[in-house]
Amino acid sequence: MKKALLDWYRRRRRDLPWRRRVSPYRTWVSEIMLQQTTVAAVVPKYERFLERFPDLKALAAASEDEVLRAWSGLGYYSRARNLLRAAQKIVSEHGGEFPSDFDSILGLPGIGRYTAGAILSIAFGKAYPVLDGNVMRVFARYFGIRKDLKKAETKKQLWASAEKLVDRGQPGDWNQALMELGATVCLPESPDCGACPVSRDCAAFRKNWQDELPVSPKRRDFIELKWTCLWIEDAGKVLLWKRSAQERFLKGHWGLPEPRHLRVKPGRLLRKERHTITHHKIAIEVRAAQSPKTFPKEAVWVPKDRISERLVSSLWLKCLGS
Ligand code: SF4
Repeated sequence: MKKALLDWYRRRRRDLPWRRRVSPYRTWVSEIMLQQTTVAAVVPKYERFLERFPDLKALAAASEDEVLRAWSGLGYYSRARNLLRAAQKIVSEHGGEFPSDFDSILGLPGIGRYTAGAILSIAFGKAYPVLDGNVMRVFARYFGIRKDLKKAETKKQLWASAEKLVDRGQPGDWNQALMELGATVCLPESPDCGACPVSRDCAAFRKNWQDELPVSPKRRDFIELKWTCLWIEDAGKVLLWKRSAQERFLKGHWGLPEPRHLRVKPGRLLRKERHTITHHKIAIEVRAAQSPKTFPKEAVWVPKDRISERLVSSLWLKCLGS
């Protein structure tokens, strides 16, 4: 499996910005962005983020608002907050140098076993395994594993396989080759076994189990939610609201206020949108409203042509019609 997969990876790997120049910082940012987000969506955001924060020190010195703005459109904003907190921790506890041992990397906010393994293998050349959704699917098919991949005991088994297989000489290429195979050939639907470098020894290919593996547990149902947001405009300015850390969604973000934030009645319907956050489907109504009589500290008037600088989530961009 090893030689065939590594040869294939060197011939076929996609030209991606984080592969052109490798450093712990660049690998880390790319891996965090790629969690729950497609490569196509990440590439332009990654390049923009790296222009704005070219190194760890630049990121550590930024404000949370600046980092959220650079993260705009990628969703799952806790990733951006953790990135900032981790950069600050590296500066304060590791002298600004990205740590190169597993425990120190794992001790950084937002970094789990997968990300630590990816950084250590790709950027430091250390033989640590990775196991993401792509690698799990490849392993399930290649080894013919008919178990629920979400179960802890199955994951333990898969981590053990990943650990045993990781190439000691080229761990970064090996891990990326496995992930690349899952992302481009061994796809969830219709894997392209004819183009697969490891089909000869693949259990699913030999037994024609490709469509049955991995075994999929019942999908989680979506929860439908309704939101009303208020468009309060006066003298060319719009009232924005700084959401608290206790909000269920978009914690710490700037947003349009909701009726529960201000004691004002929603008026004329201006716009309807739909947006999905994790397994929540949100139907949003943007309604005009009168200016409130009192202004809590979370409410700020912002010139209309500058509100998109603060409303970074794609949910708000939809509400603005952008
Ligand atoms: S042969 Fe097919 S099922 Fe097996 S690893 Fe390759 S693409 Fe996946």
